[in-house]
Amino acid sequence: MGRKYYCDYCDKRIQNDYRIIKQHNEGLPHLRAKAEHFQQFKGIEEILLDVKYKTPCRSLKDGSECMFGVLCRYRHYTTDQIWEMQQLAHKSKSIQQKRSARLLKYLRNVESRTEQFLQKRFDRPETAKLPPSMCTLKAPK
Ligand SMILES: [Zn+2]
Ligand SMILES: [Zn+2]
Repeated sequence: MGRKYYCDYCDKRIQNDYRIIKQHNEGLPHLRAKAEHFQQFKGIEEILLDVKYKTPCRSLKDGSECMFGVLCRYRHYTTDQIWEMQQLAHKSKSIQQKRSARLLKYLRNVESRTEQFLQKRFDRPETAKLPPSMCTLKAPK
């Protein structure tokens, strides 16, 4: 008896035989486990895009478990779940926007502080403009 082949996706040991492994790798439970594994790393927005144009799976209506899992060509998310995901996606977007707004404000502060510093140091008149190199300070996009 040789060592058994271990499938990471299915968390399962199977006989270390090429034909059996191949059969396993082509089987629905394995494909499903694999797809579910990668689903974990998808962002909400990606899932939303994926799910948006799909019609609800029958399993949603009768409460049964769909044997296709994430491989199913119908969606498994209820309208409520989709709504929740949209809220989450929206939230994370607005957090990002707030962050970059803060950064922009910070950079503007730096700009005006630099100006004040230069004015004091070189006793420049208030109307004097910064050299062009100091004016290009902008938040990264
Ligand atoms: Zn497997
Ligand atoms: Zn389904």
